[in-house]
Amino acid sequence: MVADSETDAVPCPACSSQSTETLLRLPSVPVHVGLLWSSPERAAQCPKGEMVLSLCAHCGYAWNSAFQIANLDYEQDYDNALHHSPKFAEWEAALAEGLVERHDLHGRRLAEIGCGDGRFLSSLCLAGENFGIGFEPGHNPDRVSDLVSRAGVEIIDEYADATSLRGYEVDFVASRHVLEHLPEPLMLVEAIRGGLVGGGAVYVEVPNFSWALERGAFEDLMYEHCGYYTPETLAHLLHRTGFSEVVASSTFDGLFAAVEAVAADGVACDDPIDPAVVERIRHDVVALGTRIERVATEFAKRRDEGQRLVAWGGGARAVGLMNLVESADAVDFVVDINPRKQGTFVTGTGHPIVAPEHLRHEQPDAVLIVNPVYTDEIAQMLTDLGVDADLISI
Ligand SMILES: [Zn+2]
Repeated sequence: MVADSETDAVPCPACSSQSTETLLRLPSVPVHVGLLWSSPERAAQCPKGEMVLSLCAHCGYAWNSAFQIANLDYEQDYDNALHHSPKFAEWEAALAEGLVERHDLHGRRLAEIGCGDGRFLSSLCLAGENFGIGFEPGHNPDRVSDLVSRAGVEIIDEYADATSLRGYEVDFVASRHVLEHLPEPLMLVEAIRGGLVGGGAVYVEVPNFSWALERGAFEDLMYEHCGYYTPETLAHLLHRTGFSEVVASSTFDGLFAAVEAVAADGVACDDPIDPAVVERIRHDVVALGTRIERVATEFAKRRDEGQRLVAWGGGARAVGLMNLVESADAVDFVVDINPRKQGTFVTGTGHPIVAPEHLRHEQPDAVLIVNPVYTDEIAQMLTDLGVDADLISI
């Protein structure tokens, strides 16, 4: 893992500018982080890819310039845990109602690109008696929301491309958590612009890179996401494609970056974004690399002193940490309170994931707190287990 800053000639996929630089190289990261493995060998041999995080000084877009879509296996069965959160469901329902109200969506034709189980598109349709068409490659008719038939939504099992929306004359297009997966994001936004009738509106939502950077959340750098957007970058992308009335924001407690805009006869605007925004992204990405290196140094030092080191927390953050830190072999195992994870092995490295009770017999010298939010809780559990160890935070 090298955090460096070098100028190269890779043009920005979002705005074609040549003012790009490489900020962070992560030579080997698992391409799918959410899988549980039953053997350490299989966990360690999981498919991996290279991440080279590049940044565009013109539009603020950050992306993995070593991304290869062929590395991904979209046959894997994914389940978005957020859907099961009442807070998320409430927020999403309010979002649908707000979009219907702000863009006067009543008796209109709506489309969603990457509509998943059709739940959100159906909510939009039901809220304004609209007609909806969704695009979802790999769409499984047995796993659609029960709202889909009530709303009369049609779901098409294909990737939306530049021609998909032609002929539908849609008044509104939504696309949520799709753009970050696309190596050529401009093509999708241009396709949306081309498919909308004059005055039609768009809503695009992605993970918020600003949120991740502010928290040093290196686990948000995942192979499946080749593009990383702040609200400012999203706004630039829509201005550049000729949208007007562009409003970008951080939403859902800042976790998502979202943009709404209107396909009026606006003139495409390719002005650079505020250089201070680009500088903030650059600074925070480099700091991310520094933090990973600091953890690596701490691990190596304790290993050389013959200490027993374990990590607490087996989620996506642990997967990121164990795979990015070169000296992660200094860690004997990972503790997790989730029984479903206990007995499995960390993707990419094969560290065993064990129950907290395991520590009674092991008596580690130091426990790495993977997620500092839980420091107090973990300290209490260690005391209850009779474990006296240094706590290391990152
Ligand atoms: Zn750019």
